[in-house]
Amino acid sequence: ADLMARGLPKQTPIPNVKDIIVVASGKGGVGKSTTAVNLSVTLSAMGKRVGLLDADVFGPSVPLMMNISEEPLVDENNLMIPPINYGVKCLSMGLLVQSGPIVWRGPLVMSALQRLLRGAVWGPLDILIVDTPPGTGDIHLSLTQNVPLSGVLLVSTPQVAALDVTARGAEMYKKFGVPLIGLSENMRHAICSNCKSKIEIFRNVTEKYAKDLGVEVIASIPIDGSITECCDTGMPMALKKRDSDYSKEFERLGERI
Ligand code: ADP
Repeated sequence: ADLMARGLPKQTPIPNVKDIIVVASGKGGVGKSTTAVNLSVTLSAMGKRVGLLDADVFGPSVPLMMNISEEPLVDENNLMIPPINYGVKCLSMGLLVQSGPIVWRGPLVMSALQRLLRGAVWGPLDILIVDTPPGTGDIHLSLTQNVPLSGVLLVSTPQVAALDVTARGAEMYKKFGVPLIGLSENMRHAICSNCKSKIEIFRNVTEKYAKDLGVEVIASIPIDGSITECCDTGMPMALKKRDSDYSKEFERLGERI
């Protein structure tokens, strides 16, 4: 609150990066990284120059989901060169710390974020997607202070427990003047493999939250075992099943970015 009252220090853009978009959720495990990954490859397939920065320092999943394992090379200025897969430049804490648990205190986390943001050759990019840790902690605050953000895409499952925290995070971004792009709902329904009809799993509460926040529910992604499998094998579903309803949902998201 103190920081908000004093106003933010001036943010510095990343050279040759037009828009920086944050993907945020309140809770973990709601599909935020899955959304960030599929959105990134979809935007790339739509002809955009895209980067994906995995700032989820304690639970980086982008290397697995994007099938990237090599430690990034550095150029003559000691800047990291993000490895590219599916047309997307990727960097993740998971690539810098190859094995073992990441047990860091706040200052180390902040310097790691700085290295990912400033210590890499990102440009030229149309969009840099930033996958964030759950909640509204240091990383979120640091991002809003350090770089100009074009918008935040919210991801949630349709449960009050998840939406409540997502809404709180969204309010924080709003306070800092970052536009809310919309909400992508994940795992509300399943598709019957026989008749292709929608099986609603949860009570419909998302719209109410979206309305209160003043955002639109832009996409609704079904729960589907092949999405999990795609994540686990590093082949994003939106690419594997081009022209499916699933990839169309991501195109819809992409058009709003
Ligand atoms: P978060 O980034 O919010 O922690 P993840 O994107 O890592 O969540 O997703 C958590 C787990 O749920 C992963 O194993 C992922 O494969 C799976 N998952 C995400 N979305 C779906 C979905 N729509 N259907 C099935 N599995 C999903």
